[in-house]
Amino acid sequence: MNSKLLPWQAKLWQSLAGRNQQAHAYLLHGPAGSGKRELAECFAAFLLCRAPVAQQPCRRCTACKLYAADTHPDLIRLEPEEAGKAILIASVRDLVERILQTSQQGGRKVVIVEPAEAMTTGSANALLKSLEEPAGSTIFVLISHQLSFLLPTIKSRCVLQACPLPTEQESVNWLQEQQPELSVEQCRTLIALASGAPLYAKKLLADDVLTVRDQVVNGVKQLFKQQSTPSELAVAWAKIPQELLFDWFCQWAQLILRYKITEDESQLGLADMRVVLKFVASKAPLERLLETQDWLLEHRQKVLRRVPLRADLLLEGLLVRWQALLPR
Ligand SMILES: [Zn+2]
Repeated sequence: MNSKLLPWQAKLWQSLAGRNQQAHAYLLHGPAGSGKRELAECFAAFLLCRAPVAQQPCRRCTACKLYAADTHPDLIRLEPEEAGKAILIASVRDLVERILQTSQQGGRKVVIVEPAEAMTTGSANALLKSLEEPAGSTIFVLISHQLSFLLPTIKSRCVLQACPLPTEQESVNWLQEQQPELSVEQCRTLIALASGAPLYAKKLLADDVLTVRDQVVNGVKQLFKQQSTPSELAVAWAKIPQELLFDWFCQWAQLILRYKITEDESQLGLADMRVVLKFVASKAPLERLLETQDWLLEHRQKVLRRVPLRADLLLEGLLVRWQALLPR
């Protein structure tokens, strides 16, 4: 592993590495895509290093070399076997057994748990005792994107460290440094699409979301000009993740409603849809807007909870409602 602190994490680093005495357990929490994993990895490297220099791992000792080669035997990462699944009680029991053994390098052991909310109640309970009285000099670093999903008993045993999102400017600067081929405008768009989370924005870019966004925005314009029908668009958009489509349409419905009430043009979201949203706000009856928003929110929940629905019918239903916002 070759972890590097992100530019907006200097203060966070100070509050972790700068402590006089290390706690047994930390809980890094904040929005997904803000860089908690990178911070946890840097912290683990620091905790394992046998001779840190100026609150940084020395990168020369055996522990640092083992960490860099991703073969440090006293660093354990506890994760779901598959993304989005639970951390199983059997995995926690294995972990507890491993930390009871003496450390192989004679120093600390570090355990990273990500995401902590993936632990079932059983898994969390199996971990509690170790969290409270870690064997030897084990340090736990838990990561959570959804603090409210964690058991209070887990939270109360950890030092909580909030990891907020960087400012928009910091995010844009970072993304542009990572992807020099992008314009500042494209970086801003990606950061906005990622709700301000820079690492999530980078993932969206890898998934080619800018192209998808163009396709969807053009589709919506064609729909209103009656150049495309809902069923044609539903077919054309079949491969676009439904979470993404529902996110965007929910945001648009909200922006239209907000503009209808405030008439504040600075609150119309990304430039690509402003003219359309403003137009719809001027034409759509309030009652129909509210109904459409209810429908969108209800079906977005179903999509997020992976309720089995016919994808083509769902999309067509969405687009029929969207088209009906403009009275004929
Ligand atoms: Zn070192």
